[in-house]
Amino acid sequence: MRVFFSHKHQFHSPQSFISRGRVIESPEKPQRANILEKAARSAGHDLIHAKEYGDKPIKAIHQEEYVNFLKTAWLTWKDLPDSGDEIIPNVHPGRNMNASPNSIISLSGYYQADTACPIGKGTYEGIVASSDVAVSGAYAIMNDIKNGSSKNFAYSLCRPPGHHAFADQAGGFCFLNNAAIAAQVCLDNGAKRVAILDVDVHHGNGTQGIFYHRSDVFTISLHGDPLFYYPFFAGHADEVGSDEGTEYNLNYPLPRGTNDEDYLRALNKAVDKVATYQPDVLIVALGLDASISDPLAFLSITTDGFFEIGKAIGDAGIPTLLIQEGGYISPVLADNLAATLSGFERIR
Ligand SMILES: [Zn+2]
Repeated sequence: MRVFFSHKHQFHSPQSFISRGRVIESPEKPQRANILEKAARSAGHDLIHAKEYGDKPIKAIHQEEYVNFLKTAWLTWKDLPDSGDEIIPNVHPGRNMNASPNSIISLSGYYQADTACPIGKGTYEGIVASSDVAVSGAYAIMNDIKNGSSKNFAYSLCRPPGHHAFADQAGGFCFLNNAAIAAQVCLDNGAKRVAILDVDVHHGNGTQGIFYHRSDVFTISLHGDPLFYYPFFAGHADEVGSDEGTEYNLNYPLPRGTNDEDYLRALNKAVDKVATYQPDVLIVALGLDASISDPLAFLSITTDGFFEIGKAIGDAGIPTLLIQEGGYISPVLADNLAATLSGFERIR
């Protein structure tokens, strides 16, 4: 398996996270990517440095004003008297407000959906590097298709993750939607249809939002039931897309504690839906936080279960880019990645 990576992710190192009223260390730390990289190396995969693509592929998905905010906000923030090291919003436009933001504090509340996406000095460099890792993978898959290669799959070791990022809003550790950016690169380079299958334990609300009105990207997500779990306000089974995108978004909310067997039953249904769509490329938003051992655990997937997840997706035989989403530090994080990649490659 080709594994695209960049060490520049480490410039983004969020310090804090508010959980149940307590300020704790952010679980989305650079060490995650180091553990995943080591796991990929130990399993014998081919590690390839991502190329740099600048903000052009990013702006094909994200609103220009939002990208400019991400790029410049920290410099403005640090000039505020008594400001902290990271931009963390403390006010959001509520449902009874409608004025436009025009100060750094209101812009922060407008563009950052929650407190889980602090912006520090190196955030922009880190998140662009994560996008570059995804874009490098997307170009590799499109070249495989053009060359008729049977090894038409790769893994992009993205950090920070991306699937909670909307076209104009960060949230849930995510700033730039790497899977969406990669999908658009595929479409702009010959693919007619792309499917995004999201197996992160959290609903891919940003990805859903970006493609909700479109039929050229089919989005499908398996996740912990948002009635009881982040992102709470999206990810329900009745969200099926709108306008031209009607029926091109599917959600499979799963109950707390769902085990391997029940998860795989739902996943097989999802893979069948993907196959019916006949995408030129499948992008997998590969969160590993459905693990029973994840610090944010909601579902109960074992390492053997991750092997089966990889196998079920790999067996579909579609040109596939696996993109790292969530998955936080636990004793089995490395094993779960190795198992997923090994399951995927079992017959390919
Ligand atoms: Zn997640």
